[in-house]
Amino acid sequence: MNELQDLYQELILDHNRSPRNCRRIENADGEANGYNPLCGDRVTVYVTIDNDIVSDVAFEGSGCAISTAAASLMTQSIKGKSIAEAEALFKNFRRLVMGEAVASDNGPALGKLEALGGVRRFPARVKCATLVWHTLKAALDRQSQMVTTE
Ligand code: ZN
Repeated sequence: MNELQDLYQELILDHNRSPRNCRRIENADGEANGYNPLCGDRVTVYVTIDNDIVSDVAFEGSGCAISTAAASLMTQSIKGKSIAEAEALFKNFRRLVMGEAVASDNGPALGKLEALGGVRRFPARVKCATLVWHTLKAALDRQSQMVTTE
């Protein structure tokens, strides 16, 4: 139980209870759907791009607490960033949840995203945390096909 309590830290619980940027963007520049069949998480990510800057990002979906919190935290952390910065953040985030070292001079700081670092001890949960990022990448690439973690 202690490990689980660790995993569901307060910040994750808060973002699950009241997800930020949980809405649809009409006429988004990029939109993609993601599905994690292992857990049943589904997410749609919308992005608005202005001169290579993610000026707006939002999501809709249904899934476990980790996937919802990860989506909420993702939107907060990439809004206003350039596409390149968002992709660099994804790389660092993936290192964090895979339990690999995140070099401080290696791209942008993770900030609140570090709250999800606990999933590294729960391999099945890593996909819950990364699903929204894979889906974001597809939305940024203006791909329209479904993204799955399998
Ligand atoms: Zn999940």
